[in-house]
Amino acid sequence: MSLAVEVSAAPGTASAGGHGIVEIRGLRKRYGANEVLKGIDLTVKRGEVIALIGKSGSGKSTLLRCINGLECHDEGTLSVEGQPLDHANPASMRELRQRVGMIFQSFNLFPHLTVGRNVMLAPGLVRKTLPLRAKEQAERLLARVGLAEKFDAWPDQLSGGQQQRVAIARALAMEPAVLLCDEITSALDPELVGEVLRVVESLAAEGMTLLMVTHEMAFARKVSDRVVFMHAGRIHEMGPPEQLFGAPATPELQQFLASVHG
Ligand code: ADP
Repeated sequence: MSLAVEVSAAPGTASAGGHGIVEIRGLRKRYGANEVLKGIDLTVKRGEVIALIGKSGSGKSTLLRCINGLECHDEGTLSVEGQPLDHANPASMRELRQRVGMIFQSFNLFPHLTVGRNVMLAPGLVRKTLPLRAKEQAERLLARVGLAEKFDAWPDQLSGGQQQRVAIARALAMEPAVLLCDEITSALDPELVGEVLRVVESLAAEGMTLLMVTHEMAFARKVSDRVVFMHAGRIHEMGPPEQLFGAPATPELQQFLASVHG
């Protein structure tokens, strides 16, 4: 599926001017002496779905965490909708976090809040959305992830797959410009993986810009417009799924695919 569309900037994002919704140039990140991102260049277009694949430790998660500002990068530039990430400017970082949604392996729902309240919380706190409107939005989003009837349920009454779908609804409640998914099915029992992937697939079909680290190779092949293979802190290969999975060019990607296909 190719839903990537070259659109000129949306109103209010004039400086994005037809370029990527996420622009990464020469990004480097070190933990002490360990350089884990060694110069990443990547442009994510509006509506594009990108799968990040690669061995454990290759830097995939660190890259996502840099994009949403959870980690400071050491060198290079990173911008979202034309706004450069600037850790020295707390107001711009708060704004950035509203534009970049992130979903993790662990669902991290607030156990003392109902499902509906979990989804309503951030819009109420951060955007001062009025309760009635936040409730309507939460109901709509829970319906979108197939959980309309769970509004008043407690998180511990839900399966892992249902909790992860609530986490997706919660991220969508902030109406992010881009959604980052970090191995969001890795903590789930195998029979629950499909329901979460189907939700992600529907978001992709609706035109959501998605950047996802995944070990689900069949899913990456089916849903993504572009696959990025990371190796040792660099983008080692990048291209359409049929190219990377069908004709991997480098021995590193060939080995990686052989290892995940068993
Ligand atoms: P991946 O997501 O591809 O498995 P990561 O981005 O999690 O890779 O990790 C890349 C490298 O960075 C690994 O060597 C890891 O040990 C190191 N690393 C990740 N987070 C930290 C941290 N908070 N402190 C020190 N080293 C880290």
